[in-house]
Amino acid sequence: MATLHLEIVTQERRLYSGDVDMVVAPGSEGEMGILPHHASLLTTLKEGVLRVKHGGTEELFSIGGGFLEVQPDHVIVLADAAEKADEIDIARAEQARERAEKMLKDRPAGANIEEALAALRRAQIRVTVAQRQGVRRRERPEIKSSE
Ligand code: ATP
Repeated sequence: MATLHLEIVTQERRLYSGDVDMVVAPGSEGEMGILPHHASLLTTLKEGVLRVKHGGTEELFSIGGGFLEVQPDHVIVLADAAEKADEIDIARAEQARERAEKMLKDRPAGANIEEALAALRRAQIRVTVAQRQGVRRRERPEIKSSE
C-alpha cells in the first residue's frame, strides 16, 4: 500500500518524521483527510487534533495552529506549538484552562478576550488529546497508559 512521508515540526523541534497511511489535520476550513497521491496544496491549520494513521494504529497530536503543505508523496506540518499525546502535561493544561475561564468570567480591565478564548481552546484540545490516547495524570504514575 502506498504511504505518505510525514514531517511534523515546530520552530523548536521535529516531533515526527515517518511514513504513514493517512493524516487527518485541523484545517482552517474544517478537518482534512490526506491520503497518498493527494493533490498539492498549501493551507493554514487552526488549533486542534492532528491524527496520524499507520499500520493499523493511530497517533494523536495537539496542534496550536500553523501551516500544512501537501505534495502527492509527502506532508509537512509546520505548527505554532505541537505535542505528542504522551508529552502533554494534563495538570498544566487544566491550570491553563482554569486561568482562561477565570479571565473570561471576571473580564478584568485590559483583559485580552480573544487571547483568553484561544488559550481555552488550546487547553481543551490538550486535555482531549491526552485523555483520548489514554494518558493518565502524572500524579498517578502507577497507572500504565495501556490499561
Ligand atoms: P501555558 O499557559 O500552560 O504555557 P499555552 O497554551 O500558553 O499554555 P503555548 O504558548 O501554546 O502554551 O505553548 C508554549 C510551549 O509549551 C510549547 O512548546 C508547547 O508545546 C508547550 N506546552 C504548552 N502546554 C503544554 C502542556 N499542557 N503539556 C506539554 N507541553 C505544553
